[in-house]
Amino acid sequence: MIARTTRGTGSRWPLIWLALLWQLTTPALAWNAAGHRLIAYLAWESMDPTTRSAVAGVLRRHPDFARWQARAGDADPDLGAFLEASTWPDDIRHDKRFFSAGLEEPTPALPGFPDMERRLNWHYVDRPPDSGQAAAASAGQLDRQLVALAHTLADPRSSVGERAYALPWLIHLVGDAHQPLHAASRYGSDGQGDSGGNAVEIVNPFQPHYPSTNLHRYWDELPGPPWLRGRQLQSTARSLSALYQPPPVSGTPAQWIAESRELARTAAYPPAGDAVPTISATFHANSLELARRRVVEAGYRLAEELKRLFADHGGGQ
Ligand SMILES: [Zn+2]
Repeated sequence: MIARTTRGTGSRWPLIWLALLWQLTTPALAWNAAGHRLIAYLAWESMDPTTRSAVAGVLRRHPDFARWQARAGDADPDLGAFLEASTWPDDIRHDKRFFSAGLEEPTPALPGFPDMERRLNWHYVDRPPDSGQAAAASAGQLDRQLVALAHTLADPRSSVGERAYALPWLIHLVGDAHQPLHAASRYGSDGQGDSGGNAVEIVNPFQPHYPSTNLHRYWDELPGPPWLRGRQLQSTARSLSALYQPPPVSGTPAQWIAESRELARTAAYPPAGDAVPTISATFHANSLELARRRVVEAGYRLAEELKRLFADHGGGQ
């Protein structure tokens, strides 16, 4: 339940500051942690024991495995590592061991990591949602990295360390590929893109604690609150899998991204009109439905992808 409160204008300022602080400290780059953990939990539930054990064996070799165990609490250690790995590429955005290329000086390499770069441009691929605008710029490596990471995991010549580094990224990026605004940006006549809706201000009356937000963040948060873990995560995942069937095709990264881009064209943007649109009840209901369906599709597809990659050689263990 969300408690709606009526406040005078004077007492709204702390809320506005909180909202601003939240936005400044948590740049929107992905489904939030709830979205990624739900996808990972759904994938784990639909993986066979052989794939689970191969995946768990690789994650145990990740340099941050002990940190994941500490955060996962009393969950099954292998499931806990899998859930925590799903948000690791976002977690390192706030981790001082790592640096943002082009913005900060490189930080010293630590054992087990190829380097300490945050790789912020792996999370998206920006293309105009309308194919008529095909000449406009595109940026981001989501499409290429999904293919490259799968190669690293499947190649028997990859070292254990290379696999351990690649796997959390793959788990995470399968989720990102299903978020419509990770696959598209609208471009203005000046050639400026909206960074997957990050530059589109909206008012979301369905989030009364910080109604002023941007469209990308709105989509990231649709699957659930970022603190969703444990039993609540499991029951949410189970109700989602009861509501939505597995997708008819597993597809390829290029197909997942094409679907997301089409959804960005047809459904992700509120109708044009106001300079700062207010999300309507109809738009919100459609968006929630769509985001939940994409989370379920991503979960099943992640399981299929891992089965495919780990079936032959058990992940090089
Ligand atoms: Zn991401």
